[in-house]
Amino acid sequence: MPTNTRILLAARPNGRPKPTDFRMETVDASAPAEGEVLLKTLFLSLDPYMRGRMNDAKSYAKPVELGAVMEGGTVSEVSDSRNPNFSKGDIVLSHSGWQSYAVSDGAGLRKLDPAAAPVSTALGVLGMPGFTAYSGLLTIGKPMPGETVVVAAASGAVGSAVGQIAKIKGARAVGIAGGPEKCAFVRDELGFDAVVDHRSPDFAAQLITACPDGIDVYFENVGGHVWDAVFPLLNEFARVPVCGLIAQYNSTSHAGADRLPVLMREVLSRSLNIRGFIQREFVDQRRDFYREMAGWIADGSVRYREDIVDGIENAPEAFMGLLDGKNFGKLVVRVAS
Ligand code: NDP
Repeated sequence: MPTNTRILLAARPNGRPKPTDFRMETVDASAPAEGEVLLKTLFLSLDPYMRGRMNDAKSYAKPVELGAVMEGGTVSEVSDSRNPNFSKGDIVLSHSGWQSYAVSDGAGLRKLDPAAAPVSTALGVLGMPGFTAYSGLLTIGKPMPGETVVVAAASGAVGSAVGQIAKIKGARAVGIAGGPEKCAFVRDELGFDAVVDHRSPDFAAQLITACPDGIDVYFENVGGHVWDAVFPLLNEFARVPVCGLIAQYNSTSHAGADRLPVLMREVLSRSLNIRGFIQREFVDQRRDFYREMAGWIADGSVRYREDIVDGIENAPEAFMGLLDGKNFGKLVVRVAS
């Protein structure tokens, strides 16, 4: 059997994860039993939600057990099949985790057509992050022509799709990104109407200038100081799909001034609709998403950028960088060619 290189959760991080929170080991890959397939990982997706899985805390999904393989979406090749539904050489979307081989009984695998799109996009623009943008923006944000839609982490997997879909729907898209290079990409390559650098000392003032008519939809990916700058600009009847709060994922304490009364007052007086979601609640929209997103990519109205890191051994460092904004585009590890 081939060798399986895998990355385990060695310790639960206290704050920012560190290299010793992960452990790499090599073992023989398991042989598939009757009804099973052996999957060889080609691409591993690295996503912010994985930080939550490292905590032993109640959430919408179970934590990864200490000593278990880190969880994650993958694009894999069937390298051996004892399941009649899959043939050797098939490329599938799977959830094999941070390892180079995995055995599956076939449940939940989705065959990919490598001729239709680069297979890595099944982890990004044509996968879970793209679907998150599509479902959250259209179902909760409901952008109307001429409205202002603001999204943070705008060069990333979710945010880049949010702004471009907003433009397709006739809205004005304003991105928030970290640093001049990401801002230039969001404005010049993705075609957002305006972009603001949240690392600039005058970020809040720049955001006011970029949103002269206020904000009708704020797609929340970040929280923290970005939310503080956005909140005063929300218009009456603004919609806020709360998708992620990456600025808080490494926090060890939620102590601080109680701002809930102010928030509630403004929710009431400005009739704000602030609504959290986890993308899987919109599963019945997936078919529409695949069709529409594939069309938008084909006609050039949606562009995407991938940040590809080579080698599963580099996954921990790349993941730690994601939480610090070091990725530039959808972060994917190329585990094998
Ligand atoms: P990205 O590809 O956008 O990468 C994360 C980016 O977040 C970084 O590049 C950085 O961009 C930004 N960031 C990190 N830390 C901070 C900080 N402290 N302050 C401001 N910005 C920060 O990630 P995704 O597109 O995969 O995910 C975006 C968000 O969507 C995350 O919060 C994630 O948890 C959430 N999500 C939610 C889902 C759901 O079902 N609700 C599903 C998928 C994702 P920059 O350098 O530009 O600041």
